[in-house]
Amino acid sequence: MANIVIYNDIAEKIQSGARLIRVADIVDEDQVANISEGAIVQIRDQQNMFVAKAIVVKQNKGFAWVFTLETFEYFDEAFIQNVIEVAIQKRMELFEDEETNSFRLFNGEGDGIGGLTIDWYNGFIQINWYSFALFNERDTIVETLKKVIPQLAGIYETKRYQVPEDDWKIKHTEGAAAPQPLVIKENNVYYAVYLGEDWMTGIFLDQRHVREFIKTQAADLSVLNLFSYTGAFSVAAAVGGAAKTVSVDVANRSLDWTKENFELNNISTDPEDHEIRVMDVFDYVAYAKRHELQFDMLVCDPPSFARTKKYQFSAEKNYKDLAVDLFDITAPGGMTILSTNHSGYDLNDFRDDMISASKEISDEIYLIQQFELPSEDFKTTIDTESNYLKVLVFYRG
Ligand code: SAH
Repeated sequence: MANIVIYNDIAEKIQSGARLIRVADIVDEDQVANISEGAIVQIRDQQNMFVAKAIVVKQNKGFAWVFTLETFEYFDEAFIQNVIEVAIQKRMELFEDEETNSFRLFNGEGDGIGGLTIDWYNGFIQINWYSFALFNERDTIVETLKKVIPQLAGIYETKRYQVPEDDWKIKHTEGAAAPQPLVIKENNVYYAVYLGEDWMTGIFLDQRHVREFIKTQAADLSVLNLFSYTGAFSVAAAVGGAAKTVSVDVANRSLDWTKENFELNNISTDPEDHEIRVMDVFDYVAYAKRHELQFDMLVCDPPSFARTKKYQFSAEKNYKDLAVDLFDITAPGGMTILSTNHSGYDLNDFRDDMISASKEISDEIYLIQQFELPSEDFKTTIDTESNYLKVLVFYRG
């Protein structure tokens, strides 16, 4: 087993709960090249004292994940079975929640194995593998899930790492196939999910609290939802009694899918009530400014990086400019909800950037609410990369 020496301050962080090891944390960075994916390594501090054991999972978040601080614990079948069982135990309340039947079952490092996420969609499971080193443990993980969850109907799996050309990226692997769409329920709102087509299933389960917040706040408001994907925020707003919603996404698939989600909740898809625009957000925002449109509630949830024919967007570089425009088209008395899931965009930086954007429009815009990952199922560690979701709610006085 290879030994990796990390800086003492990182060793301290690991002792107090951090789980991610980045290349920059390693004293001799040259070591990294010689250690292969999936290797189990011993982490030592600069005095060569044992700190932890980690598994090498090279992904954008880092180099390796600590799985234990004990010398006698191994990354073996018993360990894996145990973390899966404990994770499911922690979701018992969600399994019993009659208003919600879809949520995250296993959240990577927050549940003890970085690079593995498992979602529960009303009886079906999607497993996301971020490394072949974890996929190697597939049988243990699948058997444990089948044993612990008797009501499990079927399993889909996605490989989120580079695979050879002839290998599969997404597949139905166990039990029954899910209906298409699979209708799921979250806080009594229905959404259409398609399993087996793409790793993006139609809903981002990590925004559950934000959708619920929007539902409770949207009565009688006009709502603009930017980067709307399948319209989940618009549907939550409409169920909450929004007077009008406008959903904007550049992807063609968003039109039918958003309609389908409205229909599932018996909401009118008359464009007078709920408009769905397949177009570039930046063009729409320019159009709204030109026509002096204002909305009572704005929701903006862009990808970390996006490139369309005309524009290029990086959350860290360009969100602030976009936010200035969004505050501008928020009606006095209205709310601007700004979300980012970029793990490299620190909460404090994001907050500072958005507050300073608000000042460019008015002194009477106040940060009133903040959401992070839903702690019931999106378990996290103290690593900032683990707490990737940041949602700020501003009120314009
Ligand atoms: N807010 C959504 C998730 C957004 S995913 C939800 O809660 O479900 C990001 C979306 O941004 C994708 O659907 C993608 O098609 C869209 N997108 C990326 N760049 C865009 C652009 N420049 N204009 C409009 N939509 C864009």
